[in-house]
Amino acid sequence: MSDVIALAKELIRRPSVTPLDEGCQTLMAERLARIGFVIEPMVFEDTTNLWARRGSEGPLFCFAGHTDVVPAGPLDKWHTPPFEPTIKDGVLYGRGAADMKGSLASMVVAVERFVAEHPDHTGSIAFLITSDEEGPFINGTTRVIDTLEARNEKIRWCIVGEPSSTAVVGDVVKNGRRGSITGDLLVRGVQGHVAYPHLADNPIHKAAPALAELAATEWDEGNAYFPPTSFQIANISAGTGASNVIPGELQVQFNFRFSTELTDMDIRERVEALLDKHRLDYQLSWTLSGQPFLTDTGALLDAAVAAIEAVNGQQPALLTTGGTSDGRFIAPTGAEVIELGPVNATIHKVNECVKEDDLDLLADMYQGVLERLLA
Ligand SMILES: [Zn+2]
Repeated sequence: MSDVIALAKELIRRPSVTPLDEGCQTLMAERLARIGFVIEPMVFEDTTNLWARRGSEGPLFCFAGHTDVVPAGPLDKWHTPPFEPTIKDGVLYGRGAADMKGSLASMVVAVERFVAEHPDHTGSIAFLITSDEEGPFINGTTRVIDTLEARNEKIRWCIVGEPSSTAVVGDVVKNGRRGSITGDLLVRGVQGHVAYPHLADNPIHKAAPALAELAATEWDEGNAYFPPTSFQIANISAGTGASNVIPGELQVQFNFRFSTELTDMDIRERVEALLDKHRLDYQLSWTLSGQPFLTDTGALLDAAVAAIEAVNGQQPALLTTGGTSDGRFIAPTGAEVIELGPVNATIHKVNECVKEDDLDLLADMYQGVLERLLA
């Protein structure tokens, strides 16, 4: 068994369901301390984070990842116990195998090999590891970044180890992510009897044309890296349940996944102008969960593409699809951020798994990136 697989198994064996860490970070920290990393645990409320850095000079390369996993789900649907790592036909099974304990193991081993060959490498290497990526992401990466910013410790290049690949490891590099913003809309009317509509004011009737217009609006056309911005109504409710009552209020929740063609302020202004145009009596509150970011050029992207090609001959597709990731907290500091990790076909599912060979190839890719940036 390779070093990578042995470490991945040790990590999977720890049942670190979010926001628990269950000693995963200690295990990683011990390995990193042995090769000259300065270990700095950062605990915020219920969340354990690890900041580990080797070197004090710039440029600073950082690997960002998480030790927490989503719950196992129905145990009887797993062919093998989720927290007993099992290898069958060259495939490693267990919760977190792909998301993302496999990546953590690949990077720790890649760094060990790199440091053995280049003990006096240029710049610095760091690990930013959290245990709340799968949870509410309040006390994880964002708090660590705040701490680093406060002491002006700047990340130049960051690889997030999220499972970015589709069919073969390295076939996709995520070089950005869409932004996400949610609107909670309350439209006020006047409740009354359906037989006396002149004495009431139906908020559903008033809001329906505005909602139709929101749904039909083209917000932008996207660009070379982003699909067009999308608007989706996620929840809607009104009415008392009785067939003879005009409701007094309508509640609607909608979400935008937006490209770099728009800012969240553009979206807020356009939605509010549209609601005003329809003369609605409304209240609207917004929750921004992430700004879009894009790394379309730079030394990190070049190094990753070259390393992937050298390891398995793939020319990776550069995509920004999928949900948000912790990269959204790191990119605003000015860092170049990409995501490179194993195949994501089974993440968050029962019988989560990853090919053993893929994790070994991933370690070679990570090492190849370090060689190109810091050797
Ligand atoms: Zn993940």
